[in-house]
Amino acid sequence: MPDEMSRRLILGRSDGEARHFEDAVSNPSTPVIGILGTGDFSRSLARRLVASGYQVVVGSRTPTRFVALFPEEAEVTTQLEAANKADLIFVAVYPEHHSTLMDLKQALAGKTLVDVSNGLSINHKGPSNAELLADYFPGSFVVKGFNTVSAWTLQMGARDGGRQVFLCSNSQTAKNLVKSICHRMGFIPVDMGLLSSSLEIENLPLYLFPSWRLPVLCMLLLFVFFYLYNFVRDVLHPYITEHKSVFYKMPIKVVNVTLPCVALVMLALVYLPGLLAAVLQLWSGTKYNRFPNWLDRWLTSRKQLGLCSFLCAVLHAVYSLCGPLTKPVKMAVQEVDEDVWRKELYLSAGIMALGLLSLLAVTSLPSVAGTINWREFSFIQSTLGYCALFMATSHTLFYGWNRAFVLAQYRFYMPPTFILVLILPFVVLLGRVALCLPCVAGRLRKIRRGWERNRHIRFMLPAEDCCNGVEDVSDV
Ligand code: NAP
Repeated sequence: MPDEMSRRLILGRSDGEARHFEDAVSNPSTPVIGILGTGDFSRSLARRLVASGYQVVVGSRTPTRFVALFPEEAEVTTQLEAANKADLIFVAVYPEHHSTLMDLKQALAGKTLVDVSNGLSINHKGPSNAELLADYFPGSFVVKGFNTVSAWTLQMGARDGGRQVFLCSNSQTAKNLVKSICHRMGFIPVDMGLLSSSLEIENLPLYLFPSWRLPVLCMLLLFVFFYLYNFVRDVLHPYITEHKSVFYKMPIKVVNVTLPCVALVMLALVYLPGLLAAVLQLWSGTKYNRFPNWLDRWLTSRKQLGLCSFLCAVLHAVYSLCGPLTKPVKMAVQEVDEDVWRKELYLSAGIMALGLLSLLAVTSLPSVAGTINWREFSFIQSTLGYCALFMATSHTLFYGWNRAFVLAQYRFYMPPTFILVLILPFVVLLGRVALCLPCVAGRLRKIRRGWERNRHIRFMLPAEDCCNGVEDVSDV
């Protein structure tokens, strides 16, 4: 990174970029941009601004120290001189040092200050760094922004990394000025309103996959549970009852029977909240009652749950492909017809389930989802999603075959794992079938169009609506 930072991104005065710069300097409407601080962010920003045709003046406590690291088109001077010369100033110093800039109060009065700082940890209470800066400099117009853009992105240009810049300010004029600078640098400004939004903007780069926490935790807990269950049945049981040591099964075999269990239960968990929501709406006879918070959270985590399920399914496929490599080569034995059928069926259902899950995963990508309309998206995620659940359930059923009825399979009185795994998918599939019954689907469709049992708002749905609601029932 330091190498990259000191690499010259801006070309010499003689080339096109420099010409652009000269145009800007000669254009009196182009504001002079000041930057306070000479750190990583300041250097990258200065390079980007110069490349975008702005005149840049950098203010430092020790101007001579870092001058060589800035493009020669940028002027590096004292903080006071930079504050006096610039029309708009980026404050690229850490927030704990904002108070050391108080001597510049007069020079910065009436000017726009862009606070690019981030906090050390997520702050929900406030005040934000930008609000504190506005308190220090009441005569200036503080705009919060650019804190979500890294020095690396600035140096590489907007073609790499995130292109959105979140902005907020109490002054619309100051915000518009910063917006125009964003556009010119190749970024997309996103107006977040007043300076009170700055707390949220400062928190944005500090979040660590907030929407993934619950699904990943759920996946890990399920994995631990099924791994231990399979370990007791497949490794501990033969050791205790027959003194047979099969601990070598732990890294691949036990993991490979655990992964599909997690994948199938997670897939069922994707569709269960939709069913619960439908049941709640039928129960209360209206769609205008709020769902309980836990259900709301569950509904919004469906995409992540689905992707976790997909991950486990893919890993299961890879482990299964590696399986033959780890097994000793046996003499070919004539397999009984029934066994051949079982293997063919469960492999085929498994491959189909994985194919459908891949389709669901691909269409959940924002760039792909943006190219299809809502009905197509709902068809893939709902109808094809249920097909994937059906195929994965069939895969497990074929795998289990008739072992549910073999007493020897109940080791330590524990039922075979596939029986446990099948409970939730069965509930979801049967629930879905129940919601498709004409009397139930009809009532649900009316509720989703605003009908309310207690208010006696009665209306008939158009005939065609009554026939195409198959995808509707889980569209919560
Ligand atoms: P840095 O490399 O440590 O630079 C901070 C600069 O602040 C110093 O070079 C120093 O320049 C100046 N400064 C002014 N008064 C100071 C004081 N009293 N004590 C210490 N330094 C003082 O930090 P940075 O990475 O450029 O980050 C600067 C700001 O940008 C931070 O608020 C950070 O949250 C924000 N930011 C950084 C990035 C990034 O990728 N680096 C991304 C988004 C936001 P002089 O010695 O020349 O005065």
